Amino acid sequence: MRKLSLVSLPLLFAAIDERMPLYLPVRSDGRVEFTRWMGGQDIAFTGNTDRSAKDFFFPQSEELMRLRREGKRVEVLDTRREAEDFVLFGVRPCDVKSFDILDSVFLAGPVDSYYATRREHGVVVSLACHLPSSTCFCSAFGIDAADPAGDVAAWLAGDTLYLRANTEKGERWLAAYDTLTEPSDENAIADLQQIRDKVSALPLAKLNTAVFGGDKLATFFDLPDWESLSVACLGCGTCTFVCPTCQCYDIVDFYTGHGIQRLRCWDSCMYSDFTKMAHGNPRTTQRERFRQRFMHKLVYYPAEHEGVFGCVGCGRCLRKCPQALHIAKVMRTLGKED
Ligand code: SF4
Ligand code: SF4
Repeated sequence: MRKLSLVSLPLLFAAIDERMPLYLPVRSDGRVEFTRWMGGQDIAFTGNTDRSAKDFFFPQSEELMRLRREGKRVEVLDTRREAEDFVLFGVRPCDVKSFDILDSVFLAGPVDSYYATRREHGVVVSLACHLPSSTCFCSAFGIDAADPAGDVAAWLAGDTLYLRANTEKGERWLAAYDTLTEPSDENAIADLQQIRDKVSALPLAKLNTAVFGGDKLATFFDLPDWESLSVACLGCGTCTFVCPTCQCYDIVDFYTGHGIQRLRCWDSCMYSDFTKMAHGNPRTTQRERFRQRFMHKLVYYPAEHEGVFGCVGCGRCLRKCPQALHIAKVMRTLGKED
């Protein structure tokens, strides 16, 4: 465990960014987003970012390759660029957990080399949630907001930042800044229980997850509640785009006039043309599409992943859905909670 005084934090950030780009949550124009450090910014140590950190490993759109045509000759161009090392600082415990879910999809074989390269080059420094938002409910999914995962975990206590390496990569990374930090006792952070108490007192912390799980397909699939839950859904896809665990994408070919650019772009199971093929679309109503999204998080994903849910309780869909149709509402309705 290492520590440094908050007044020295800009020195640490400058040293980090000198070695590799540093991204951290910055408040600007009423939004909080991961932004490259450049000094003098309003860094958000509380709450969470509007967009999740998944963009850094699974960008909203990326070029996979190009095809160039000359006469009858078609050349395949590998457009991958060697990823550079980077640091994501201040990732909240829910978002760190979301990386496990993305890993289970992209690294499970066949390994997605685009994603894998970024994961290898990224150092994740998490930050315990001292002041969670009223829309947070990570504890309902068993995430400990006081002791987050990541390569390095950080805590703010008074005027001190504590840093503890969780992985070998984190140890190597933290050791590079030994001259700017000093050793600290593992027990120096006294307010872990205070953080847990705050998080478990949040309005949604007691959401009942026990009624969901991989064996509940028959229980929920045909419930009439899907109709009333989904009737106001606009199919806008906002919930999927802000969700740190949603990982659906489409691959599109874009004709440039000289060849083809092959792009991977986020897609949404809420869209009416999602997975549409020559024979048509497997889900023809918004009710079915809506059901798919929530059944995937609460039943299908746990069925394949030893009971782990596909939601981390970040609360973004609660804050961003224009129709207030979010996973907490779905869980309460299906679970017959008040
Ligand atoms: S649930 Fe809300 S955010 Fe998601 S597609 Fe429907 S209206 Fe849009
Ligand atoms: S479903 Fe909603 S609360 Fe759960 S991880 Fe996705 S955006 Fe966050």
